[in-house]
Amino acid sequence: MTIEKIRKSDDEWARELTPEQFAICRKKGTERAFTGELNDCKTPGTYVCACCGNALFDSETKYESGSGWPSFWAPIAEEAVATEEDRKLFMRRTEVLCAACDAHLGHVFEDGPAPTGLRYCMNSIAMKLKPREGET
Ligand code: FE
Repeated sequence: MTIEKIRKSDDEWARELTPEQFAICRKKGTERAFTGELNDCKTPGTYVCACCGNALFDSETKYESGSGWPSFWAPIAEEAVATEEDRKLFMRRTEVLCAACDAHLGHVFEDGPAPTGLRYCMNSIAMKLKPREGET
């Protein structure tokens, strides 16, 4: 799977996204814990980037982390997401971005469950769920 890069100006993104999506995805904001629509979601399907539609996570890897944000132990494919060191807030964290459009999605921590031990802590608003057909 090759990821095709999508580049748009802030003006273009601002026109396409809601103000909340723009603030989080393009300006690296964070939604409040336990407020996101997808936090408790258990519907089988594929989580795609809210900005560009790139497939990011499969519901099979979603788990209840108790953090208040949708959490996954692995991306749908290694090349689906990119990571970058984030030194904001006087902490060292690893930022997770959409590999296609560079949307800020959330952060990844090393306190997740087996088999990876990773916790991809995502903003609901940065993703859309595409439910699998024939399942509920
Ligand atoms: Fe994207």
